[in-house]
Order: sequence, then C-alpha cells, then structure tokens
Amino acid sequence: MASQDLTIETWGNLSLRDPTNGHIYLTPSGMPYDTLKEEDICVLDKEGNLIEGKRKPSIESMLHVRIYQNRSDVNAIMHTHPVSSTVFGVLHQSIPVVTDEMAQAIGGDVNCAEYALPGSLELAENVCNALGTTQACLLSNHGALCAGKDMKECFKVAKVLETSADIYYKALCIGKPVTISKENVDWMRDFALNKYGQKG
Ligand SMILES: [Zn+2]
Repeated sequence: MASQDLTIETWGNLSLRDPTNGHIYLTPSGMPYDTLKEEDICVLDKEGNLIEGKRKPSIESMLHVRIYQNRSDVNAIMHTHPVSSTVFGVLHQSIPVVTDEMAQAIGGDVNCAEYALPGSLELAENVCNALGTTQACLLSNHGALCAGKDMKECFKVAKVLETSADIYYKALCIGKPVTISKENVDWMRDFALNKYGQKG
C-alpha cells in the first residue's frame, strides 16, 4: 500500500476478516507499515472489541467493523490516502464509472461519503451508506475506502480506483468525460463476478 503511493507515512489502515469465525485482523494505530510484525496486528470480534493483541487498534476500527457487519461478501478492507482519489473527496464529488475496469472491479459510481470526524461512528455510518453494494467509496476530505472478497481483490480495487480517479481528473481538464451507462456497468460487473477467467 505504501510502496504503490496509496498512502503516506502511517496513514490509512487495513483489515482482513476470517469468514469462519468473524474475527477481524486490523492494523494498529500509528505504526509504520514496513515495521509491522504479526504480533502488532489487533484481533477484534464482530462488535469491534479487542480480543487479542498488545497494540492499540487503528482509530478507524468501527469503520471496518460496520462494513463487515453490512457486507457478508467483503472479507478485506483498505482505507487509503491516495492523491487523485482524494482530490475528488476534497471537492465532495463522486467519481462516475468512466473506465471499463472501474465497472468490472468496483461495480458502480464511487460515491463520496458525507463528512464526519476521523474515528467517529458517524463516519463509519456515512461510509457504509456511500459504499452501498459497490467495492469503493471516497471519504470527504479524507482518502478512500476499498473492499474485496480477499486482500488481493481489495488491492486491485484500490489501484483501479486511484488510476481511474487520475484518468477522470485529466479528462475533466481537457474536455467533458463520457460516463458508462448503468446497463453496461451492470453487464461488466456480472461478467467480472461470474464469467471472467478460467473455470475451476
Ligand atoms: Zn485516514
């Protein structure tokens, strides 16, 4: 996440959920990513209580917990601070589907959640609403949120979002971007979920 310019310093946070017991494995608060060891990871239960680990969890723990409660299909979450996506978050603007890979990986417009203070339950609720059934949303004045069925997919979503935000920004600079129709977005998302790749 850090090496791909998806965040700087210790900002952002990421988590995985074990679907067999609902336990959430979350990064600790304010520790450099390149120094993290297994024992630094905080283990939370479904309600967000710390059940294992010696570190203080990320301030955004309830953001992760509320999304997992809402979305049984999501088992990995990254909260990133990438530049181009945040440009739209600063404008409180959503990013419409403007590339085919956005349609396939994210599945709809990337909505911008209403502003709330970092770490607040209000922010967690606003982000859940903005995310809806898609795989990504923006936080007003504060980075992005990406979800996936596993960390590999979540990381792909994060890269597609930032690349698409950069493309959309550049397109806006020189003309009027053409968005992709909902019908075509839905077709591509269904293809990506159910028909893409090799069988088995
Ligand atoms: Zn943040």
